[in-house]
Amino acid sequence: MKLPTDPAQNLAVLIRCPSVTPAEGGALQTLEDMLEPLGFSVERPVFSEDGTPDIENLYARRSGNGPHLMFAGHTDVVPVGDEAAWTHPPFAAEIANGEMYGRGAVDMKGGIACFIAAVARHIEKNGGPKGSVSLLITGDEEGPAINGTVKLLDWAAAKGERWDASIVGEPTNPDALGDMIKIGRRGSLSGSVIVNGRQGHAAYPHLADNPVRGLMSLVDALLHPVFDKGTRDFQPTNLEVTSIDVGNPATNVIPARATATFNIRFNDTWTAETIQAEIHNRLDQAAGRKKYRPGKKTAVDYELVWRDRPSHVFLTRDDKLIDTLSSSVAAVVGKSPSLSTSGGTSDARFIKDFCPVVEFGLVGKTMHMVDERVAVADLETLTRIYERFIEDWFGQGLT
Ligand SMILES: [Zn+2]
Repeated sequence: MKLPTDPAQNLAVLIRCPSVTPAEGGALQTLEDMLEPLGFSVERPVFSEDGTPDIENLYARRSGNGPHLMFAGHTDVVPVGDEAAWTHPPFAAEIANGEMYGRGAVDMKGGIACFIAAVARHIEKNGGPKGSVSLLITGDEEGPAINGTVKLLDWAAAKGERWDASIVGEPTNPDALGDMIKIGRRGSLSGSVIVNGRQGHAAYPHLADNPVRGLMSLVDALLHPVFDKGTRDFQPTNLEVTSIDVGNPATNVIPARATATFNIRFNDTWTAETIQAEIHNRLDQAAGRKKYRPGKKTAVDYELVWRDRPSHVFLTRDDKLIDTLSSSVAAVVGKSPSLSTSGGTSDARFIKDFCPVVEFGLVGKTMHMVDERVAVADLETLTRIYERFIEDWFGQGLT
């Protein structure tokens, strides 16, 4: 029987499954069909929660005597956008000039296609790794992410699954394959500052309390001074004011309320709790300042509302995992990858509670765009990197 050793072929079949979140689209069935002949036992738990669509997920394990490696990813994809703008249809996997076009080509059906090809090649050559390999694949990464990786990890852990290391196959390389491994992620936190004033006539400001003045003091305090200068592994913490809302249509009326919303990406100088305390502290101090509110006797009347759950900062410190992956990249592409913590959050932030995790996949340039595509040569290169990693991380030999 022909094993799924060709990553381009694996990817083509996956791209042809229209698995826009929350649709399974045949993508998990395709994985099951590829993994069972490789000796994986496959389960496809469906998770539900009120107010969100039911989501099908996949957990596949090939058991062996030795450590346990988990590959994590998602088969769901973002919508195609303007389909007419695509040079090649988004679910056709057509190849032109050495590139395969399709939604999910790099984010991240391509990474999954390569990992499966790598395992298949390893099994063909060596009979199988000296340990267990599992794939933890969700259909809910690009959507609300409620019935996906978090529940899948808990579900598997409750069955007794334990992992020694994990690779997430998200597209981590900015320009060329081998550029970058992600070894951690900054934390993320969003909030709104609401200032309550007193409405009035713009010509009689002493009778009113303009909340825009108060908000300016508070926003100023959020932006200065800088939170930190960065650490060895992380760029400096950064706060962006993402919206300022007053909603006042009149030019001669002082409004009653003004709101600023912000997002902060914080490094390992902080925890979600300490950065929240710092922000509170800055706002409290700024509320008493008179710079924009001369003559006002009271402090700025404000509320701080945290939005969503915080994403926690993490940094993976597992020399075997990081060094083995780095040297696998270097052996295949001829240069060492940078170890980075840049960019947004990913499902790695959930996996890190269960085992050390790093992220490495394809080149991310076209993800979420019209004409998402991957160089077929990159699929072969990534497969060889993953294969080399499997050999070295488990140690070569027969099961
Ligand atoms: Zn992704």
